[in-house]
Amino acid sequence: MINYDYLIVGAGLYGATFAHMMHKKGKSCLVIDKRDHIAGNIYTENQHNINVHKYGAHIFHTSDKEVWEFINGFAEFNHFINSPMAVYKDELYNLPFNMNTFSKMWNIRTPKEAMKKIEEQKAALNILNPKNLEEQALSLVGTDIYTKLIKGYTEKQWGRDCRDLPASIIKRLPVRFTYDNNYFNDPYQGIPKGGYTQIVEKLLEGCDIMLNISYEDFLKKAVEKGISWNRLLYTGMIDEYFKFSLGHLKYRTLKFETEYLEEDNFQGVAVVNYNEREIPYTRIIEHKHFEFGAGDGTYITKEYPDEWTPGAEPYYPVNDDENTLLYEKYKALAEKEVNVIFGGRLGGYKYYDMDKVIKAALECAANEK
Ligand code: UDP
Repeated sequence: MINYDYLIVGAGLYGATFAHMMHKKGKSCLVIDKRDHIAGNIYTENQHNINVHKYGAHIFHTSDKEVWEFINGFAEFNHFINSPMAVYKDELYNLPFNMNTFSKMWNIRTPKEAMKKIEEQKAALNILNPKNLEEQALSLVGTDIYTKLIKGYTEKQWGRDCRDLPASIIKRLPVRFTYDNNYFNDPYQGIPKGGYTQIVEKLLEGCDIMLNISYEDFLKKAVEKGISWNRLLYTGMIDEYFKFSLGHLKYRTLKFETEYLEEDNFQGVAVVNYNEREIPYTRIIEHKHFEFGAGDGTYITKEYPDEWTPGAEPYYPVNDDENTLLYEKYKALAEKEVNVIFGGRLGGYKYYDMDKVIKAALECAANEK
């Protein structure tokens, strides 16, 4: 017979951060995960001396000094700055949308010229109050950039027409009138030297871990083995917890196709986006560039987005009106669950970045007695 203060479902960044904080408060935690490894989607594996991001590119960036200091307590970060490229047909552009992009697109040089171009394209459209992603994008960057660099990429990423997507998705992307290819505005950015898995390993020190077991199977096993707990943190899909009783929330899944190549440098940068609709993947990641080219040979991963169906991995919640409404209903059920906390991208049905995950988990742990 064993009683834990906390059962934590999901050994990803949210669960591990929470477990760490509760362990520090002297609480006992059992962390379970259905995968055969810890670290959730930030899991990295060292292959040929390259830390391969097994579930897609994870670039740590934050404006929150406290979160930055917290994560730096578990690994040393390098000075990686994300400066992805975008390919549209035979044209190559810098991202995010900045003077390098504009000058290539319109053969212009100054911010005034770029703004004039965008204003001209906007004026022709007459959008006063952007109601969806398409209108938001058009009013930010005009027709040319929308058509070449946003429409195709977004529609394959989300599997939906840009007019049916919320404007908020595109607000993640900066638009700058300076020659600055840094994808993020945050003052703190980098990749942990040696990968992410070690961070989660350290976060989970002092906690019991059980891998290869779903929550459902664990519940059965717990009865057999006499395992009990006082409180539960659930970081899986909130609709799955409630056995989809109100219907399925929609998620986007990703298929990763990873290849090892016997060459030194495939694309010269960590991330290249493929922005035309006709190419089925959204981007190719070359993992070694996250750590400045160290390693033997190279690993590249093509990322194919798809609609989530049972059995697939849910990566992105689809935060449109319909799904947000359904989530609110699940949230109301969640609030009635005694001694259960829901957290993380799936538990909170939120398009969270890593720093927001940590912040939320720290706050959640601080609210626990
Ligand atoms: N986006 C785009 N073109 C690009 C890159 C991004 O239109 O070349 C849009 C797209 O709608 C995407 C959103 O910006 O869903 C956010 O992109 P981000 O790179 O932040 O997505 P993540 O890396 O989280 O998948």
